[in-house]
Amino acid sequence: MRVEPHAQPELIPASLPVRTFTGADQPDVDILRRCIRCGLCLPSCPTYLETFSEASSPRGRIALINAVSEGQLDVTDSGFVEQMYQCLDCRACEAVCPSGVQYGQLVETARTQIERARPRPGWQRAGRAAVFGGIFGEARRFRAVNAALALYQRTGAQRLARRSGLLARFGLARMESLAPALPATYVAPAGQVYPPLAGVAQRGRVALFTGCVMSTAFAETDRATIRVLNANGFEVVLPEAQQCCGALTIHSGEMDGGRALAMRNIEAFEVSGAEYIAVNAAGCGSTLKEYGALLADFLEWAERARAFSERVRDITELLAGLLDEGALNTRFAPLPLRVTYQEPCHLAHAQRITRQPRALLGALPGVELVEMEEASLCCGSAGVYNVTRPAMADALGDRKARNILASGAQAVVTANPGCALQVRAALARAGSDMPVLHIVDLLDAAYRGRLP
Ligand code: SF4
Ligand code: SF4
Repeated sequence: MRVEPHAQPELIPASLPVRTFTGADQPDVDILRRCIRCGLCLPSCPTYLETFSEASSPRGRIALINAVSEGQLDVTDSGFVEQMYQCLDCRACEAVCPSGVQYGQLVETARTQIERARPRPGWQRAGRAAVFGGIFGEARRFRAVNAALALYQRTGAQRLARRSGLLARFGLARMESLAPALPATYVAPAGQVYPPLAGVAQRGRVALFTGCVMSTAFAETDRATIRVLNANGFEVVLPEAQQCCGALTIHSGEMDGGRALAMRNIEAFEVSGAEYIAVNAAGCGSTLKEYGALLADFLEWAERARAFSERVRDITELLAGLLDEGALNTRFAPLPLRVTYQEPCHLAHAQRITRQPRALLGALPGVELVEMEEASLCCGSAGVYNVTRPAMADALGDRKARNILASGAQAVVTANPGCALQVRAALARAGSDMPVLHIVDLLDAAYRGRLP
């Protein structure tokens, strides 16, 4: 495959000043020391499998972080920066590591250190501030931008822009082509309360984390999530003032911006009176569950963040828990469909939730689950990675499409919006229009008795 050319890191001469990690948010030295360089993580690493380069492996990257930590390599060294951003932060390495190396902590703080140390041109700084502070920093603005995008898609402006070549000229063609078709209405949390279905055992209150992309591009899946929770006896509340979880912001090295969003979410959900915070996007769920660690050093927030994270449940975790207790509402209509399951990295590796989605699929009459090869290998979506690193993202997407098509499935099921969009695009490149469904869409369809 063809991947982006990248500089190999070199130890710089001692005569040049070397900047190491400083201040808050440094890669944890104790975690670094845990790596025994056994290499067991290499076969799980998507970038290693595509390049077979040690520098592009978890072990290689940990060695680089260690070199910066020990003052042998500058924090802005181009090879170091390249490897920290070539990594997908998929955390597959973390899930298989026998020494318990929490790789996510290392790479996310390394990126934060890079962003604090390296000078960026003014236009880049302004662009990042507009995206992370402006669009993702305020849910209302995010929805307003999406409303404008929906208008652009529906009025013919999109066709015009594509034909004119303007998108390519401004470097926006790829980003625009990956944008999902936006629905006419969104889910705007404003304290709405949805009562549980009558005639089923009542199970208390759940607060739904509606998400940025989920509440707009996947608004119908958010609505399906509410219906499925109601069908299982939960009263569902949508707390007002909830914000983006902060995943994209944190993964892009903007740790402080991520913390600000975390604090606002904690405040928004504290007043909900809900036992659980349900989330239907794997990437968001993983970040919400890590608020405790993110705010551990902030005295007035540490305990509140820990309590918040303890209440977070992925929707598959919550429903499979009912299934295990024999308490899941199983009034499903049969859906004759052969599906394969694409594991979102932040569900399988970061949250270690792999059994639950499969158990739920197994509970649906008529649905046959066929496993694909490399189901848990990253599809190349990884937040904004498929926009910023197109060659590697496409190589991984194409690899995923080949595995899906070889499985003989009629549809792909996943549990994260980024994966759904990436897999759809990769299947389209392979000439397939196979449906890609969120698992909740399938559960909801089974309750309603019609295919989504
Ligand atoms: S990260 Fe873990 S699995 Fe990978 S080389 Fe280090 S100790 Fe081994
Ligand atoms: S997070 Fe994923 S891409 Fe990064 S080193 Fe680990 S396995 Fe490789």
